[in-house]
Amino acid sequence: MSNFILPLNTTVDNLKRDPILDFQANIRDIDDLIQLTFGEPGFAVDDRIKAVAKVSIDHDRSHYANSQGEVNLRRAAVSYFNRHFNLKFKGIEDVLVTQGVSEGINVVFMTILEHGDGVIIPEPSYSPYTTSLTLAGGIKIPLDTSKNDFKITPESIEKTISEASIPVKAILINYPANPTGVTYSNDELQAIADTLKKHKIWVISDEIYAALTYSGQHTSLYKLLPKQSILLTGLSKSHAMTGYRIGFIFADSKLIAKMLTVHEALAFAVSTLCQDAAFAALTVGEDVPEYALKAYRKRRDFLVKTLIELGFQPVNPQGAFYVFTKIPQKFGNDGYAFAVDLAKNAKVAVLPGEAFSKTTPNYIRISYASSDNDLKEALKRMKNYLQNGVKY
Ligand code: PLP
Repeated sequence: MSNFILPLNTTVDNLKRDPILDFQANIRDIDDLIQLTFGEPGFAVDDRIKAVAKVSIDHDRSHYANSQGEVNLRRAAVSYFNRHFNLKFKGIEDVLVTQGVSEGINVVFMTILEHGDGVIIPEPSYSPYTTSLTLAGGIKIPLDTSKNDFKITPESIEKTISEASIPVKAILINYPANPTGVTYSNDELQAIADTLKKHKIWVISDEIYAALTYSGQHTSLYKLLPKQSILLTGLSKSHAMTGYRIGFIFADSKLIAKMLTVHEALAFAVSTLCQDAAFAALTVGEDVPEYALKAYRKRRDFLVKTLIELGFQPVNPQGAFYVFTKIPQKFGNDGYAFAVDLAKNAKVAVLPGEAFSKTTPNYIRISYASSDNDLKEALKRMKNYLQNGVKY
């Protein structure tokens, strides 16, 4: 029963707050915290991209944009992602521009799901997926990857599908993964694709971190499964443009046309100014992810090495900008209590593993997206506190 005078939608009323935002609210009032929580790149937007955004303002680009996405941006996106992901999209009807991948996920779920449909979500996973799924009337079927190096395999997919008690409509795969940084080799992806091909389920692939792959070339699942895949990507992470809110859905043009109707109802169109900036990012700013990747790789190596010295057992990340790590045994199994303690006493904020999966309560996630200085200072504080008990 709702506490409100008039009833609310019961689905919304029963929704729990996203666990990441919930934890953040619990530590909000602590002074001098270094935030290693969010996936927020610490780089400024590239000057060449900013220059285009400024010109757009001066040219009064203040009107509703094309709701599917400005034609020049969609052309640039098709060309960019075809080249970078080794894909073969034919033209601008194969892509929809959304307000970040966040809106893209809602559009996809609302387009393909009937009430009560099951969606397999490998866990640990990015927690907002669950909220979007619930709002679209879907039901999560978790696939625990924690006992298999945090990867899905043909066997775990088969097992999850065969044991599901509700119809499985889709699987949502994210790689390089948040929170683990895990990604897949071509052979692993091919084996996963061969398995999924045998089942009539949609394959939603969130590849927002693809540009941040540390070794080897990123292969998109869309390349291996064009008939049943929907590809989500965007500029938040690759080009440090989180606030510009630019995402892309790539799929068969007939499906894109259906999704456009949902997107028009949710957002109508993405900001015209931001689309102009996004065009610049995919053309003159094509090299931006390269220099960001160099800096992230250095930070990753430094962070993983220091964590091991401190007794943590980190998953070695192959992409994205997070380290997911077991806490040292001497601190027990409660990653939530550990994260609160670290925030209060070392003034370093990290996220508890339980925000991403019930099976990883003894883990924390550390983001190294923010800056070299923050990371260095945070590790100094952690060392002082965890090794010598010195509170900051
Ligand atoms: N998907 C994953 C896996 C993410 O980690 C994030 C942000 O952290 C998003 C989607 C949201 O991205 P956007 O800023 O494009 O909405």
